[in-house]
Amino acid sequence: MTSAVPPPGVSIADARLQEVADGIYAYIQPDGSWWINNTGFLVGRRGVVSVDACSTERRTRAYLAAIASVTEQPVRTLINTHHHGDHTFGNYLFAGATIVAHDKCREEMRNFGPPRPVPFWTEIDWGDIELEPPFLTYESGIRVYVDDLACEVRHVGSPAHTTNDSIVWVPDHSLLFSGGLRAGADRRGAQVPALRDVGGPRGQERRAVAARGGP
Ligand SMILES: [Zn+2]
Repeated sequence: MTSAVPPPGVSIADARLQEVADGIYAYIQPDGSWWINNTGFLVGRRGVVSVDACSTERRTRAYLAAIASVTEQPVRTLINTHHHGDHTFGNYLFAGATIVAHDKCREEMRNFGPPRPVPFWTEIDWGDIELEPPFLTYESGIRVYVDDLACEVRHVGSPAHTTNDSIVWVPDHSLLFSGGLRAGADRRGAQVPALRDVGGPRGQERRAVAARGGP
């Protein structure tokens, strides 16, 4: 299982912020391997919506610092695209934010529990993680507004990466926060048909701004 071991030299400092539309950012953490995800956020006049947290305390604090580098607004809404720890363990650092996800994301996160040593991973410095599951949940989807900009948060059903994957689709910018999903197939080869049905004019190009890391 050596392929599951995080490669050495993957530094938090290598993470970069990219503005992909006005006030919308992708936060990209090389190299996207296990426990290293990509996130993104949208800046409004009175608050920020973040799509996912990061895995460890240090990585999440670095992400929050990246947000603070472009806005003084607080993160008021945190959307978890699925329950995996690289997207949710850092939730507790988003003090004051409403944490939103699919019903099963909350359930699966509570079932998994806090980070713990796993035989085939190298030891990870998690920091002082406190489990903070989503506390506003939905069954099929929810619409979140950033000022007047609508963001469609939709459960994609199954088969997918997990039982509780959601995507965040921003139709006005043709932007897709794909969370744990890749178009076409997931890590185990499962097709992800929902990515073809996220809306927008037929044939409209979609730009995935925050694809998955691992697991
Ligand atoms: Zn995942």
